[in-house]
Amino acid sequence: MTADIIDGKAVAAAVRERVAAAIREEGLTPGLATVLVGDDPASAVYVRMKREDCAQVGIESFHHEPGADVSAEDLATLLAELNADERVHGVLLQLPLPGHLDDAALTALIDPAKDVDGLTPVNAGLLMHGREGMVPCTPAGVMQLLGHAGVALSGASAVVVGRSQLVGKPLAALLLAADATVTHCHSRTGELRAECLRADVLVAAAGRRGLITADMVKPGAVVVDVGTNRTDEGLTGDVDFDAVREVAAAITPVPGGVGPMTRAMLLENTLRAAQRLR
Ligand code: NAD
Repeated sequence: MTADIIDGKAVAAAVRERVAAAIREEGLTPGLATVLVGDDPASAVYVRMKREDCAQVGIESFHHEPGADVSAEDLATLLAELNADERVHGVLLQLPLPGHLDDAALTALIDPAKDVDGLTPVNAGLLMHGREGMVPCTPAGVMQLLGHAGVALSGASAVVVGRSQLVGKPLAALLLAADATVTHCHSRTGELRAECLRADVLVAAAGRRGLITADMVKPGAVVVDVGTNRTDEGLTGDVDFDAVREVAAAITPVPGGVGPMTRAMLLENTLRAAQRLR
């Protein structure tokens, strides 16, 4: 068996087109504020790409770079201003922050209605309660990819490897809400291979190159690779792609799988925030 490749770029392009059309048709001007603190080169690239994505679909972006040595108090003041600004519907605080600032405490200051990354405790809580809030972009993107690929989740065995607040935990909650039977694995899981082998849907979100090998995948499974690991050969995921492709029924590539969906879902969340706040 050679797995079908789930093309994240194509699905993401459709999401962007949908967002752009809604903005045109509803006469909205959604606004996204991006806050970049410090000089992490990867963060700077991510923020630049997010702003370019916004411009393409008609979302106005407001960029702030308060400087690497900004105090927690001054950053809190900036977030309060953005919460109050009617032109701003989404507030994105790019993580990680420099070491003297507390990522979680500052993220929690974002108005949940403008929390387009879905990282505030309020939105995480709404997700656990199965109520409508703002869902983090990567897990939301994975769910759309699975939907697009026609993967039946109800009653399926889903295994999520990784338990971060950003990816693993919200994704496990979404899969559970879709009636999958969810097994949640992490760095302390004893028998990772045995756990993974029971998956009809296997999601790797550990950030460990080559973690998921072909002997860990049930024949016919759907494999979603969230991992992004920088190597000399470029970007790779957590899954041994070539070997797993011979076992799985469908697989997302890296790059070109989950990554484009994450970017597209930020646009969708910003649109949704603007629709709710108008
Ligand atoms: P994280 O470091 O916060 O969490 C990693 C998780 O993996 C932890 O819960 C840990 O318990 C688990 N883990 C680590 N080693 C393991 C092992 N050997 N066996 C089992 N579990 C193990 O990372 P994160 O923010 O959740 O991101 C995970 C990966 O996804 C990273 O590579 C990151 O770059 C990538 N990512 C990609 C996108 C995208 O859009 N494609 C978005 C977010 C994150």
